[in-house]
Amino acid sequence: MDITVVGGGIGGLACAVALTKAGRPVRVLERRDALADAGTALGMWPNALRALDGLGLGDKVRQIGVVQAEAVFRRPDGRPLARIRPRNAVVLISRGALTQLLHDALPSEVLRTGIEVSDVDSLAASGGVVVGADGINSVVRKTCFGDAYGLRYSGYSAWRGIVPGEYGPSGEILGRGAKFGVTGVEGGRTNWFAPVWSPAGLRHADRHLPELHRIFGKWCDPVPQILAATDESDIIRHDLYYVGPRLRSYVRDRVALVGDAAHAMTPDLGQGACQALEDGAVLGRCLATMSDTDQALRRYDSLRRKASQRVAGTARLVGQATMRPGMVFPRDTLLRTADFLMR
Ligand SMILES: Cc1cc2nc3c(=O)[nH]c(=O)nc-3n(C[C@H](O)[C@H](O)[C@H](O)COP(=O)(O)OP(=O)(O)OC[C@H]3O[C@@H](n4cnc5c(N)ncnc54)[C@H](O)[C@@H]3O)c2cc1C
Repeated sequence: MDITVVGGGIGGLACAVALTKAGRPVRVLERRDALADAGTALGMWPNALRALDGLGLGDKVRQIGVVQAEAVFRRPDGRPLARIRPRNAVVLISRGALTQLLHDALPSEVLRTGIEVSDVDSLAASGGVVVGADGINSVVRKTCFGDAYGLRYSGYSAWRGIVPGEYGPSGEILGRGAKFGVTGVEGGRTNWFAPVWSPAGLRHADRHLPELHRIFGKWCDPVPQILAATDESDIIRHDLYYVGPRLRSYVRDRVALVGDAAHAMTPDLGQGACQALEDGAVLGRCLATMSDTDQALRRYDSLRRKASQRVAGTARLVGQATMRPGMVFPRDTLLRTADFLMR
């Protein structure tokens, strides 16, 4: 059985590593000429670390990444709202370092770069398994799962970046329709993200920094220092979308979707890449260990669809509750109460 993975991002590479570890041949077709090294830090929650452990990569991620044991939530004037310490720490690692680790676990011939798949029907007609790991704008989803599943705008877009130097505390500063998040990342650097409630497609000339200074310039430390250390050319900005409505299956015939292709979600729980890792690892394991391919694909769908859709739904709710301009009072009250109850 030929297995072709479309997309060499986090979910696609995880699937290929799981298959390779079990001795199953696989090829990954990636449209970029090289692995993604742009992007910012990704928080690896315990579910992702468990998936990485299964791929033999968990310890390397813990070694390279930066552990974040707690998150401090504050108002823009610096007044504290809550200090939240999850039972298990999160490990922050840059997208570039994570994809490199996954790639290094594969034989060199598996990843074929510079190949953009456009004719998914021909690929699927060859009779092998096609894994759509081609991200939020998935051509595999559009071709094989129909137009009913599209992208919906969350109501906010986000600027992101990484700066040299360590700034803290890690956590989020929550304003009206805007927040500023800060975490560590390997290499003694700081990762920041700044979602703002705004119409889709809104652009501020070619430069991001003047708008960032206008919105966040008077916020408490370390926001002004981080903005001062930020180079205009390193800033990434995206309108944030999610897949809607929920897919009724992640599998159609011998085509399966993983990661953002199946369930792109808003980043409010820091779970998109974590879920993509879980999907890839589980699909690879099902295909490698079950002799009946159709049964293996059905098993993957039953193990991953509802679980990942629940996370996506919760991320959307958290996003609305923390980002909608009208939600400031209930949001802050809830955080202060949570802080009080957890003492
Ligand atoms: C602001 C923000 C913060 C985030 N923070 C976190 C976080 O802290 N923790 C976390 O877990 N997640 C986070 N995420 C989410 C995370 O980035 C994504 O969920 C994750 O990258 C999805 O992985 P994927 O493999 O499904 O898709 P991608 O990483 O997008 O990979 C898809 C790959 O497919 C390739 N491709 C696309 N089309 C084709 C084609 N036709 N042919 C060949 N190749 C193709 C692309 O080039 C790409 O390499 C965040 C997202 C945002 C926007």
